[in-house]
Amino acid sequence: MKTACLISTGTELLLGTTNDSNSVFLATSLLERGIKVIGKTVVGDSRETIKMAFASALGLADMVISSGGLGPTRDDLTKEVACQVMGCEMAINQAEVKRLEDYFARRQRPMPESNLKQALFPAEAEIIFNPLGTAPGMYLKKDNKVLILLPGPPREMEHMFKNEIEPRLERDFPQAVNRVIRKTIKILGPGESQLEKILDGVIDDSPELSMALLAVDGEIHIKLTADGQDINHSNGLMEKACQSIKEALGRHIVGYDNDTLLSVVAACLANTGKKLAVAESCTGGLLAKMITDLPGSSEYFWGSVTSYSNEAKMLYLNVKQETLEQYGAVSPEAAREMAQGMQKQSGADLALSITGIAGPDGGTKDKPVGLVYICLAAGEFLQVKEMHFVGNRESIRILAAKTALDLLRRYLKNGG
Ligand code: ATP
Ligand code: MG
Repeated sequence: MKTACLISTGTELLLGTTNDSNSVFLATSLLERGIKVIGKTVVGDSRETIKMAFASALGLADMVISSGGLGPTRDDLTKEVACQVMGCEMAINQAEVKRLEDYFARRQRPMPESNLKQALFPAEAEIIFNPLGTAPGMYLKKDNKVLILLPGPPREMEHMFKNEIEPRLERDFPQAVNRVIRKTIKILGPGESQLEKILDGVIDDSPELSMALLAVDGEIHIKLTADGQDINHSNGLMEKACQSIKEALGRHIVGYDNDTLLSVVAACLANTGKKLAVAESCTGGLLAKMITDLPGSSEYFWGSVTSYSNEAKMLYLNVKQETLEQYGAVSPEAAREMAQGMQKQSGADLALSITGIAGPDGGTKDKPVGLVYICLAAGEFLQVKEMHFVGNRESIRILAAKTALDLLRRYLKNGG
């Protein structure tokens, strides 16, 4: 596997005022191309440290990719220092001088002398045009090493990497391209340790197929990377792993890669032509907001009632006063009547209800913070789920809304 070292230059990155997002983007993009990042360095705008960073990076990896410090000012030193470390002579590139002169002429401004250094390049380098800014990038292949210099502003850097650098990497490292494949499997239901137990023995972590679990907003994402001898081998490894995980986890799998819980539920609803209405208490409209975040939701979403008070539950959803008095608003009985009431009032095929205690106050020994009842009503079918979420008010509400969607997803996936 070809290797890369990343260098991010800029004093603002050391002060903590700017996040080094460029290296995150580059590391992800490179791995997708079968190039492994083995190190990354952040350095300020100082000649000595930039020099040290390039010297050690070029000693370690097949390629070095830097971002930042290509501008015209005195603290923009990256190109000069990197080329010095590579042992390249710099010379004025006439085409670049012309481009700079045109740039300033179009703006009717005189060109400062200092800008001329932006036209200095080694003769053997490929100069990379930057359509989104003034600083061009550079691609240089020498002595079996590749040096790539990119501008600092993330928009310019990403555009240049995708449009100009990736094709050159494909040209120079054809064997590295498209060999590594990655897949994300999104799970909702089991916790992380439970999931680990289920997957124990299902996937043998190896250099060729690695697995990582990542907790994201109540979901667990299984990140798989297949790195076989070639693309066919990688595909085979990935397919086998996915099949095994599918057999082990079944309905706990929400979706893959770009799927989201919402997009999967939305697709199911659109397929069946069924309409959904929701009745919310402790989530205060969050579920309705999530559903309507997706454009086109009017096709399957009837609407919602935010019935926060007991009065609202009785007035809009016909929840019985006796039910609330006898069992309380946070009870399976109340959740059931909310969903049934919602279904009746809306005429929708499906109704979800949520009632619970989001905290931080309001919990008791019997009904602690995090206790949430979720009900799905679908015609004669009724299902109530009791959940005990842990977290702050915000995360309890998010988990409640997502679990409601997941209840519906499982019902619809089961054929309704
Ligand atoms: P310019 O011609 O715009 O000066 P440059 O190549 O000299 O381009 P820098 O001056 O180093 O780039 O950085 C420009 C801006 O880009 C910085 O103010 C910073 O906000 C952003 N930037 C630089 N490096 C990074 C990075 N690694 N991650 C995220 N943002 C960055
Ligand atoms: Mg700059």
